[in-house]
Amino acid sequence: MGIVVQKYGGSSVADATGIKRVAQRIVATRKAGNDVVVVVSAMGDTTDELRDLAEQVSPLPPPREMDMLLTAGERISMALVAMAIAQLGHEARSFTGSQAGVITDSAHGKAKIIDITPGRIEKAIAEGAIAIVAGFQGVSQDTKDVTTLGRGASDTTAVALAAALGADVCEIYSDVDGVFTADPRIVPAARKLDSISAEEMLEMAASGAKILHLRCVEYARRYNMPIHVRSSFSQKEGTWVYPDSEAESTMENAIISGVAHDRSQAKITVVGVPDKVGEAARIFSTLADTGANIDMVVQNVSAAATVRTDISFTLSREDGPAAMEALAKVQDEVGFAELLYDDQIGKVSLIGAGMKSEPGITAKFFAALASAGVNIEMISTSEIRLSVIVDTADIESAVQAAHTAFDLDAEEVEAVVYGGTGR
Ligand code: ASP
Ligand code: MG
Repeated sequence: MGIVVQKYGGSSVADATGIKRVAQRIVATRKAGNDVVVVVSAMGDTTDELRDLAEQVSPLPPPREMDMLLTAGERISMALVAMAIAQLGHEARSFTGSQAGVITDSAHGKAKIIDITPGRIEKAIAEGAIAIVAGFQGVSQDTKDVTTLGRGASDTTAVALAAALGADVCEIYSDVDGVFTADPRIVPAARKLDSISAEEMLEMAASGAKILHLRCVEYARRYNMPIHVRSSFSQKEGTWVYPDSEAESTMENAIISGVAHDRSQAKITVVGVPDKVGEAARIFSTLADTGANIDMVVQNVSAAATVRTDISFTLSREDGPAAMEALAKVQDEVGFAELLYDDQIGKVSLIGAGMKSEPGITAKFFAALASAGVNIEMISTSEIRLSVIVDTADIESAVQAAHTAFDLDAEEVEAVVYGGTGR
């Protein structure tokens, strides 16, 4: 008998039927002898709908009020799930992030967890109740205001709570059966992975795989928390994300674990940057001040005649307008010629721990892209990842080509997308 933390995503609790189904699963886990702590997301597309609503009232809502609004989504589902469990004859108590002891910094919309003090959760489970916690939210240590942790961050709430409670496992329930070798919505022949190392999962999440929130994987890695990613719509065993130490001893590293894609980026090119000491530093410190997260950076060799160079980089599309505005302000100071903005790009990444010791991966990847007629705009690599920037229109064919080239296609379609609107 141990503590199991289960997280149910928006599509698992999209309506009353879903909520009742989830309640059954929770009760079954409790009956099997576990203490159960549940983290829920907002129902269906509630978070997006609330954002749309806010936008109609005010184009730039105060971040504090935006967080107050969005956290309401998770409060609705936590109360309904608790009611459904009570209906099944078990005791359940719901808690907001603040009540559950999720303490954050005060960065509204992207707050970071700085501490978890889950006293009320521990008390609830000690008294035999099932604790239901609203995901994706906390309370600021300084301002005492309600904060949100960023889109999709209920996963992070779940893993952070699991670590703080010393749970045996954190189960993340969604509308697909686990982690696939590619997004089954693009590659129907994608295969479910039985297991993956946290190191690879981290690269997959950072490369746009939406199945798990990036920070949740970072957390799981830091605290050695195994994650079981599975569907709330089926009883199938999902994908185990193992802490790296465990993964090394229990898994045979596949050369390539999967192909991820990311449609959320934009590319900025700073044209005609004087090729002298300190220019790149000035450009990127200007960007850092806007809070933009820079991903890939490419600097060309400067032309001998002009002693000027072009610097291109990618960043989250959401950060694009602010970054362009900040750079435009330092144009005279830095002395570059012009700024180009391109948001019609996508990133396609090949991930696999076995890549470290296998020659020829780059050649095979690029050959696959070439035969699919895909032009590569930028390239970046890590020890276990190879990423390219391509035109938006080429994302799907690039993913499919790489998936096939590395023999990842399943013979029979095994991926089922049970729910969700893909929004
Ligand atoms: N409801 C929030 C969102 O849609 C948090 C989550 O689902 O994890 O981003
Ligand atoms: Mg959601």
